[in-house]
Amino acid sequence: MKYKPEDYSISDTGFYGLDDGNIEHYEEKLVKCRKPHKCMAGCEKEIPVGEYAIRESGFMDGVPVSSYTCTDCMDKWLDEILANEE
Ligand SMILES: [Zn+2]
Repeated sequence: MKYKPEDYSISDTGFYGLDDGNIEHYEEKLVKCRKPHKCMAGCEKEIPVGEYAIRESGFMDGVPVSSYTCTDCMDKWLDEILANEE
């Protein structure tokens, strides 16, 4: 985790699996995992308890859904975004 917590909360990026327009009450934020979660961004690493992860949540057809992205994946992704901005 090499960026500031607020840098991980970039919305409307289209990066996340859940953000396809079919999600109601879509929300994403940086959280500390209270349970282990599998990173959904591609690396499929298990994010251990106590580690930070980006949590996305919302409702699809009235059913609550959520997914987690590890900060390693976010770091790589932010590297690309920030490089493109310069
Ligand atoms: Zn990951």
